Amino acid sequence: MLDYQNILEEVAHEIKPYLGEGRVASYIPELANVEPNVFAMSLIDVNGNSFHVGDYQKRFSIQSISKLFTLTMAIQLIDENLWNRIGKEPSGTSFNSLVQLEYENGIPRNPFINAGALVVTDVILSQLQDAHQSVLEFIRTLAQKDDINFDFSVAKSEAQTGFRNHAMANFLKSFKNLEHEPTRVLNAYFHHCSIAMNTQELAKAGLFLANKGVQPSLPVPVLNTRQTKRINALMLTCGTYDSVGDFAYRVGLPAKSGVGGGILATLPGKFSICVWSPRLNEKGNSFAGTKALELFTTKTKLSIF
Ligand code: GLN
Repeated sequence: MLDYQNILEEVAHEIKPYLGEGRVASYIPELANVEPNVFAMSLIDVNGNSFHVGDYQKRFSIQSISKLFTLTMAIQLIDENLWNRIGKEPSGTSFNSLVQLEYENGIPRNPFINAGALVVTDVILSQLQDAHQSVLEFIRTLAQKDDINFDFSVAKSEAQTGFRNHAMANFLKSFKNLEHEPTRVLNAYFHHCSIAMNTQELAKAGLFLANKGVQPSLPVPVLNTRQTKRINALMLTCGTYDSVGDFAYRVGLPAKSGVGGGILATLPGKFSICVWSPRLNEKGNSFAGTKALELFTTKTKLSIF
């Protein structure tokens, strides 16, 4: 068996020269308050063994990684019907782009760009009447940690400055692809993005994606095998915005990133792995995080390819 701990430590050592590269997201003012040069990485295998390096107990803003959990909930609730309202193709545009939405008549390209996640949030609201607490509880259950919570200052900061997201929600509403008021959907969405977790908790919460939908510590499967395959496929093709091709080329794992600097990836059948370093590349993915995952899959020769 591979010595995962040793490999993570090697990666953490080799990544050091890259920790100053890229820039922390500042378009959400509260996100700019993070310590910029930190690094953490956690791996949990399907047998429950876990390995960590760096600041793996330090929580950060999961941002768009929340889209993975809201999508999972929407699939649980309405399964394939979701695709009447959202596509499943890579967008080739930035995560907060508006142009594509106009010429595609309000149908977001995929559930991992902001427009898609707003529709996913609207679906959860329709099914459960509550999208704040239900998503938080779901994440707590997956990670087996009751004290995971929103960061209200991050949510508020984004609500005050997220003009593009406000525009997008109103745009979706004009195409009748939101059932609820845009402000209600946005409020839930900003709260989901603000949830604070560490790499250990995220790797644990994502383990079902590497294990055919089964979270080993839970009594019932989170998703069935078909649904799990589909979410992994969407991660591979849409999970890292408009650099998804480069990410697959370099890393070779299905993944979902967030502008807080986290990336959660899976190797189906083997493990989930989460990395965090807040400085981002120009596409909005963690600079050192992407590099660390690339080093990891190169050293271990483990990827989906
Ligand atoms: N809350 C952020 C936004 O909507 C999430 C973006 C991201 O992580 N890519 O802009």
